[in-house]
Amino acid sequence: MTKDHITKPEEIRRQANMTDYDAARAESTWDVAQGLIDGLPGDKLNIAHEAIDRHVANGHGEQTALRWIGKDGARRDFTYADLQQQTNRFAGVLRAQGLASGDRVYALMGRTPDLYIAALGTLKAGCVFCPLFSAFGPEPIHARMEIGGANALITTARLYKRKVAGLRDRLPELRTVFLTDGEADGCATLPPLMQAAPDRFATEAMDPEDMALLHFTSGTTGKPKGVVHVHEAVVAHNMTGRIALDLRPGDIYWCTADPGWVTGTSYGIIAPLTNRVTMIVDEAEFDAGRWYDILEREAVTVWYTAPTAIRMLMKAGAEAVEGRDLSALRFMASVGEPLNPEAVVWSNEVFSRPFHDNWWQTETGGIMIANYASMDVKPGSMGKPLPGIDAGIVEVTEAGATEVTTPGTIGELALRPGWPSMMRGYLHEEARYKKCFRDGWYLSGDLAMRDAEGYFWFVGRADDLIKSAGHLIGPFEVESALIEHEAVAEAGVIGVPDETAGELVKAYVALKPRFEPTEDLKLDLLGHARKRLGPAVAPKDIVFRKNLPKTRSGKIMRRLLKARELGLPEGDISTLESDEQ
Ligand code: ATP
Ligand code: MG
Repeated sequence: MTKDHITKPEEIRRQANMTDYDAARAESTWDVAQGLIDGLPGDKLNIAHEAIDRHVANGHGEQTALRWIGKDGARRDFTYADLQQQTNRFAGVLRAQGLASGDRVYALMGRTPDLYIAALGTLKAGCVFCPLFSAFGPEPIHARMEIGGANALITTARLYKRKVAGLRDRLPELRTVFLTDGEADGCATLPPLMQAAPDRFATEAMDPEDMALLHFTSGTTGKPKGVVHVHEAVVAHNMTGRIALDLRPGDIYWCTADPGWVTGTSYGIIAPLTNRVTMIVDEAEFDAGRWYDILEREAVTVWYTAPTAIRMLMKAGAEAVEGRDLSALRFMASVGEPLNPEAVVWSNEVFSRPFHDNWWQTETGGIMIANYASMDVKPGSMGKPLPGIDAGIVEVTEAGATEVTTPGTIGELALRPGWPSMMRGYLHEEARYKKCFRDGWYLSGDLAMRDAEGYFWFVGRADDLIKSAGHLIGPFEVESALIEHEAVAEAGVIGVPDETAGELVKAYVALKPRFEPTEDLKLDLLGHARKRLGPAVAPKDIVFRKNLPKTRSGKIMRRLLKARELGLPEGDISTLESDEQ
């Protein structure tokens, strides 16, 4: 890539001040992992080859790769051979339309098969894939396409007309728009092009350091950042899929995330296909009954979802699961937000097995810390670093970053850089990128602590920490205590300024369906929290809301609750989803 500043791994190590020993250790682990993928001749690589072509070459072409379930219940199966043919054609279409290796191809559409074919076909052609949530409005779409210098877009006629047509003259680099259906001025209609394209395509052999994916962060703490990932990341996707999600060839795997969020790409496309599973894709949004139907009917063996969905399932109650046969389920994992201990207890009751929490970020590209299959799950803990991942708790001062090894000490969660799916840059934001590294550490911006057994516990975002009367309070702890109350579906906790205490803890609470937001309930909740947390940490005030403001990836936007509380500007809310008072 010449277009932008992309930092090479050697450069990351130099900036991060990694010792040769650290670098060698990180590398040797991933070298072992490298044996699990093919690569292409001449030390080249392509994610799409690992995800599809090699399975077909190895005689697995007839295995179902993707089972798509439409909103209306329609089902379509694609074997690995079907996916190979379709992605070859899509790559051929890109070439025929003049898109070269390194060009940026964006997708704006719901979870239809076209989205998955476009993602992998784009990678085959050596182009960079950038997925957007189809629910974004025109301005968030424009901002992200401008930052990434979008050269092509694949979308539907309806989304194009409603959201993109009016932006065209502000996107000078956008040469081609492909519509999966229908027609519009200045757009190419995809189906006839796909029909005319050849079944074969020579997958582009990429340098492992070539840019493959551009992902925008969730925007939980501010303006989303464009995170650059390279083809080498596939090594991590494959290996972490095995270790942290227990994926085995032939599994029926369901990742509920949309590819517009990094989870929906790393673990909703690449990890499952490189591990040769059958992946379920559901086009529809969350619905408790529908979800249990899918788990049961499709005999899902491995399920990867997010705390917000788990809390909604808890809200739907035990009745929704009663009488169902979910015995095929072997492994369940959660990511994106802290998983409340209550949710693990609940899953043990309902599914007879725990949700395995794991932690990572858009920046890390793949799972870093997890309760993996061979470990005892500690409810409320994120687990332990994956093999090859060196995580620590550091104290960051002006003098530098120092590791704190005393168990139970809160500090910033940091990682020794060097694994394959580590971001190679924030696009066009070099200074911001460099600020993530200090004294050999990548600083995550999250606060955590490690216990004596080496388990990591999430405390909060560095920005969300509450300082009240000499106590440091992580919102997660307070939210989890509130969720233990039978009336509470979700809680978001912030600190509000107070003259004597510095800050006071304030909670926003959404209730389960059967409960009314009364003054009595509020008092009951305040009392419950005081009993669980002690008066210093418990909220002083509780406000009832219909739901909490969340990002499209399902994260509670505490900064927005706080900005409103303080009467400050709301900041970037391009990813805001549910938000009813
Ligand atoms: P932005 O960086 O734009 O503010 P974001 O950090 O929410 O948004 P993502 O990269 O999607 O964007 O999310 C990563 C963050 O999600 C982590 O840094 C962490 O705060 C949170 N997170 C992810 N998994 C977990 C987990 N298991 N427990 C606690 N927090 C988690
Ligand atoms: Mg972040």
